[in-house]
Amino acid sequence: MGLLEGKTALITGVASNRSIAWGLAQAMHREGAELVLTYQNDKLKPRVESLAGEFGCKIVPPCDVGDDRQLDELFESLGKQWQHLDVLVHSVAFAPRETLEGDFTDATDRAGFNTAHEISSYSLTALAARARPLMRDGGSILTLTYLGAERAVPNYNVMGLAKASLEANVRYLAASLGPDGIRVNAVSAGPIRTLAASGISGFRAMLNHVAATAPLRKNVSLEDIGNAGAFLCSDLAAGITGEILHVDAGFNTLGMTGSFE
Ligand code: NAD
Repeated sequence: MGLLEGKTALITGVASNRSIAWGLAQAMHREGAELVLTYQNDKLKPRVESLAGEFGCKIVPPCDVGDDRQLDELFESLGKQWQHLDVLVHSVAFAPRETLEGDFTDATDRAGFNTAHEISSYSLTALAARARPLMRDGGSILTLTYLGAERAVPNYNVMGLAKASLEANVRYLAASLGPDGIRVNAVSAGPIRTLAASGISGFRAMLNHVAATAPLRKNVSLEDIGNAGAFLCSDLAAGITGEILHVDAGFNTLGMTGSFE
């Protein structure tokens, strides 16, 4: 029997078959969950529809997390399909491309800061608030973060601040929703080549650096993230909430990279 047998899961953030959300969808489907995938806009609709078709799972109306009306419609439509929601995956982030290269002080302006925080952090609160009434028997919420929340990483810039906010969001939501039996956790993923990652200047160099120096001497895969996410959303993780789980080949544990010889 799969880890998520009998559970329903709403998965946001699929844009391609390289999306981390797609890795999570594959793992959760394999573990027995019934899935609904959302898509950001009409441009992405055909691709997400075709991926959803691989599992015969449903998709719901477009969900731009910057639009409260669309969020309301999403959960209204979900409430008609399912009696209860068990799992919510938030795998969404955005900052304007020009903020993700060069010197942090020069690259960061008010508009870029606000957009990064609204789309990448506030959206978790907005989704969780709407999911709460549907998580009648408790549930599990999962988001995706990155080491740039904890340490200054070249070019990650304002997205690091937004991820720090997201990680605090995980802890506050965990405290708020815990009495309802709803757990809230994040996976802090090592770098993976996706559409969002291609917007970060020097991303290839990040991948090479991790592969050369991380304790496991590799980059993580979509499968690695999918499996960890499926675990966190399963009853095996019933005692875990407010947690940031690093799935990054151990890179975050290093105080210094390179050889001591
Ligand atoms: P991706 O481009 O495949 O996914 C990003 C998703 O965000 C897309 O589906 C996009 O449609 C969605 N999105 C952006 N703005 C949106 C909006 N306004 N409304 C609704 N959806 C919106 O890239 P990914 O790497 O799979 O990113 C998923 C998550 O993983 C992000 O939170 C990202 O920061 C995080 N993450 C990525 C990496 C990495 O190296 N790829 C590492 C750690 C964490």
